[in-house]
Amino acid sequence: MLEELYQKVVQKDPDQPEFHQAVEEVLESLEVVLDRHPEYRSAKIPERMVEPERVIMFRVPWVKDDGEVQVNRGFRIEMNSAIGPYKGGLRFHPSVNLGILKFLAFEQVFKNALTTIPMGGGKGGSDFDPKGKSDNEVMRFCQSFMSELFRHIGPSTDVPAGDIGVGGREIGFLFGQYKKLRNEWSGVLTGKGREYGGSLIRPQATGYGSVFFGEEMLKTKGDSYHSKTCLVSGSGNVAQYTTEKINQLGGKVVTLSDSSGYIYDEEGIFAEKLDFVMNLKNVRRGRIQEYVDKYPSAVYTPVNPNLDYNPLWNHKADCAFPSATQNEINAKDAQNLVNNGVFLVSEGANMPTTPDGVKIFLDHKVLYGPGKAANAGGVATSGLEMAQNAIFSSWTSEEVERKLHNIMIEIHKQAFEAAEYYGDPGNYVLGANAAGFRKVADAMMAQGIV
Ligand code: NAP
Repeated sequence: MLEELYQKVVQKDPDQPEFHQAVEEVLESLEVVLDRHPEYRSAKIPERMVEPERVIMFRVPWVKDDGEVQVNRGFRIEMNSAIGPYKGGLRFHPSVNLGILKFLAFEQVFKNALTTIPMGGGKGGSDFDPKGKSDNEVMRFCQSFMSELFRHIGPSTDVPAGDIGVGGREIGFLFGQYKKLRNEWSGVLTGKGREYGGSLIRPQATGYGSVFFGEEMLKTKGDSYHSKTCLVSGSGNVAQYTTEKINQLGGKVVTLSDSSGYIYDEEGIFAEKLDFVMNLKNVRRGRIQEYVDKYPSAVYTPVNPNLDYNPLWNHKADCAFPSATQNEINAKDAQNLVNNGVFLVSEGANMPTTPDGVKIFLDHKVLYGPGKAANAGGVATSGLEMAQNAIFSSWTSEEVERKLHNIMIEIHKQAFEAAEYYGDPGNYVLGANAAGFRKVADAMMAQGIV
């Protein structure tokens, strides 16, 4: 029956491969859950979950510094509001299309359910590319984008945040325009600056959370990060704070990347070097290649489109933290990781491993934390930001980090226990899908056919 549903999803929207991939992975896990809970089948819960509650698409016109008019496309997918207001990031990247955002919104529903905070799932963004644009161009784009989006969102309806290409600068411009149009200050976006309602630790949360999730997986084997060599991809928000937390917990990070190539620094990307990367990426908005100009003992390898694998994943290491984008680890990369001794993979990015890659991790009993569990710390801390906004208060960094840490421990526990309950201990894919699904499914059952 679930195969039939999957085929329907493919036929309905044949041009959305990333969405098909995300749906297939969840449906595969659900057979065993639905066998124990036939009531979900008769209420057609899976059929309802794969259909977004609402899809908004709109024109985003704006003017470049040289006066040329540009037109981009804006999106917001309001996927599921059974357990709370829609919640999920905005992505600005030229690759953005409806299928990619539907995959992200679908994953978000289960991820948010795992956080223990009442948040539904959504995602949005645009095919706008912030790279190479001036601050004024980014501001005009964000203002035009919000001039349509503002009528669809609100603190109890839909609360967007950042994702690829949307950091503190973009959230600030989006928030300013929302406030002007609505004449209202409210916690309608998360990831805000500290001065205007942002939560401490929100920038760090996804990376820190992914490392905490990995730490819980290590604990099940009586192990820790002490002296572990780690591969990290990306050099944006998630990669930077993943590296920071691994350093704090006694590990060593030897790689970082961007879409042009990657650097390998055998000595480790410790404090001062990480500060250099943060300034390079967040302030100067430069390329990771510049790292080797500053630290010549490191090696830079540009992307080679003729290779069918990514050499970043082909170094001796213990742990891997894919933190760039979807499908960045294919089957060959997964096999290379296993051959190089990697026994833990914690996904900071969303769906960074292809289905054949996931199978290799599971077959080799790698401690594999799928994105919807391992990177949930970002949205969980967004939930904490919403709570602070709602009570007009702000918590200290220590308090927010402690709450984040406890949430990651709880997410790990839910996924670990659900995997055992449904008969495949150690399979966090099954565990995360089953635990997230059940929470949303029970809420949908209680609310009738809506
Ligand atoms: P970011 O700050 O924009 O950084 C993205 C990084 O990934 C950059 O280094 C970027 O390189 C690289 N990248 C992007 N697209 C790429 C591609 N097609 N090929 C190779 N490299 C690529 O974004 P982020 O917030 O760190 O997000 C990274 C991942 O984490 C995404 O999958 C996102 O969905 C996921 N995630 C983020 C959060 C969050 O709170 N931010 C929460 C949960 C999950 P360039 O600069 O060259 O593009």
